[in-house]
Amino acid sequence: MIHGSSAAVESVSWQNLLARSITDPLELLRRLDLDPALLGPARAASADFPLRVPEPYLSRMQHGNPADPLLRQVLPVGEELLEHPDFVFDPLGEQHTNARPGIIHKYHGRLLLIVSAGCAVNCRYCFRRHFPYSDNALSTDEWHQALDYIRQDDSIREVIYSGGDPLAANDKRLAWLTREIAEIAHVKRLRVHTRLPIVIPQRVTDSLIEALCGTRLPVTMVLHCNHAHELDSHVGSAIQALRRAGVMLLNQAVLLKGVNDRIDDQLSLSEALGDHGVMPYYLHVLDHVKGAQHFHVDDEIARRLVGEMLAKLPGFLVPRLVREIAGATSKTPLPPELINQQIGRPFA
Ligand SMILES: *Cc1c(COP(=O)(O)O)cnc(C)c1O
Ligand code: SF4
Repeated sequence: MIHGSSAAVESVSWQNLLARSITDPLELLRRLDLDPALLGPARAASADFPLRVPEPYLSRMQHGNPADPLLRQVLPVGEELLEHPDFVFDPLGEQHTNARPGIIHKYHGRLLLIVSAGCAVNCRYCFRRHFPYSDNALSTDEWHQALDYIRQDDSIREVIYSGGDPLAANDKRLAWLTREIAEIAHVKRLRVHTRLPIVIPQRVTDSLIEALCGTRLPVTMVLHCNHAHELDSHVGSAIQALRRAGVMLLNQAVLLKGVNDRIDDQLSLSEALGDHGVMPYYLHVLDHVKGAQHFHVDDEIARRLVGEMLAKLPGFLVPRLVREIAGATSKTPLPPELINQQIGRPFA
């Protein structure tokens, strides 16, 4: 494993790290001493959805291990090209509910604002890998229309910055947007759904914190971390800075075969999140997006996993297992399969 000194890592700006991300499959394989035979499929699968891995994320992967749980999330593989009738381009039908540019308003009281089309990492399972983000890069005029939409609907209590990854937007844009939203009296809360502090923790700067936390709105950040190995000391420092600023931290993960579908992966992820003061919120079963079928985990296995977590963890470290169903009024919970255990006399 390569570990730079922390001073060296932190002296590089996040914009620089974003720009220097690895996009060539050959370079990724070389850097991790992986079998060159992986190159052909990686090239073929990345034609459809490009490879993109930032350096700080790469530095947490194990060399020579094609099954590394972080690598599997980003390495294009031949299985992505297989056709499967149940796995489609737009499993959530969002390309149709997205009536106004930059806004997805599906649930009562809260709406998603697509703040940035870009992501710092391309996750192979992403449910939006086929989403037409370029249509959602807003002009100034469209930003004002999106704000008008929020202003005119006083049922909207919470605005959720989403994407792509909203933290791919610059601090100036985020500060402006947050100030505008804070002026709308019926909006009470701000939420940010992001994977950037996980893949490039250097993104969490004083200036970002000021941009998000500088208004009356309480801020919740929902991180997207799928595996305990993603939580290194740099991510830990970023999380501490956010917590010191009063940001409530939650995590959502996606259940992925070969990444985090064993009970030990889930237990260590929840424990590591808890150690950092981050509460597991959602564990999503995979959306049936074309090209991601090799990550599929059966519902029965998913429900048993969460049942086992309930038996081993404090309740607040057990995420809610959910599925997104087009047309539903919220995420749809899947009940855990409870473990039938013989409790002896624990206090005897
Ligand atoms: C997930 C999601 C939300 C947030 O849902 P919560 O259950 O409040 O976390 C809001 N809008 C859309 C479109 C979503 O997909
Ligand atoms: S960061 Fe989120 S939106 Fe971006 S590719 Fe990964 S899962 Fe998809």
